Amino acid sequence: MPNARTPSIHIQRQTFHEMDFIIKDTDTSVANAIRRVAIAEVPTMAIDLVHIQVNTSCLHDEFLAHRLGLVPLTSHRVDEFEYTRDCPYCSDHCLHCSVTFSLDVQCTTDEETVTVTSQDLVNSDATESQLAASVQPVHLSLEKDHMESSSSGIVLAKLAKGQRIQLTAIAKKGIGKEHAKWSPVCTISYKTDPTVQFDLTKLNAVLSERAKRALVASSDECLAIDPKTNQLVYETAFIRGRISLPLDCVKKMTILVSECAGDPCAVLVYNNDPNQFYFSLETTGALSSEDVLRHTLRVVQRKLNQLSAHLQSTFQENLHALF
Ligand SMILES: [Zn+2]
Repeated sequence: MPNARTPSIHIQRQTFHEMDFIIKDTDTSVANAIRRVAIAEVPTMAIDLVHIQVNTSCLHDEFLAHRLGLVPLTSHRVDEFEYTRDCPYCSDHCLHCSVTFSLDVQCTTDEETVTVTSQDLVNSDATESQLAASVQPVHLSLEKDHMESSSSGIVLAKLAKGQRIQLTAIAKKGIGKEHAKWSPVCTISYKTDPTVQFDLTKLNAVLSERAKRALVASSDECLAIDPKTNQLVYETAFIRGRISLPLDCVKKMTILVSECAGDPCAVLVYNNDPNQFYFSLETTGALSSEDVLRHTLRVVQRKLNQLSAHLQSTFQENLHALF
């Protein structure tokens, strides 16, 4: 049976980098579409082209270019950039579709080594355009660092005495489908409610005190006895962690309920068709968790609109062919 209710999103916990949310009244296909779109189809800015002028470090040019590509860049105004391939203002790259960074670090000091980090990337377009100035490397890998402002940037290379790296890096707009460096999420995953659960009201009515204690002992900490009411309850970890009831516990329940002259099948609740999805999202810092979710829903909506329009025109064509 198709679910006729409108899906809804409930945000449980939210920080700049992380978000836990629940999507209710939908099915696995929608939940998975949201997960996949967040990974692969939300645009961000990332370094795509590197011109290396000097590289006397121990890293190859390609290695360095790859590392630069993986540095997350703040992309909260990414919608205002054009994709370079579609840019109507240029044939190569311009301020409407790219941001240029320069880096020049040399180890000439008395120190043994110099560490080249994302802090050394200088936005060369920042003075020319506010839009370009909004794109900066994300130096802070952790929320904690953000609070303490103690991050020293993402390490790109280490230079020994006399070594130097001088390069120009061009950041462009892209999506994770083209290359993972454009993906705004580190992880996004969902869990559903446990497939098999007990109807605790029925179970509490059937089982004796001794049987309840025996069931708790075999439940691997999924069940507990409420000391006030002396009734069986689910452990919070069972619900919050969406873990399954152990098979031993289900077997034990069958034996105990049969002993107490009850019907084991009546106590089991099956959830073959989950309609609640508990999401956990962590971003790279390029976009806030809220922005990632908003962009994701917009992309899903756009795709559905395109599909709907396509179906409509196909239907009309077929109709004309018939009459
Ligand atoms: Zn352009």
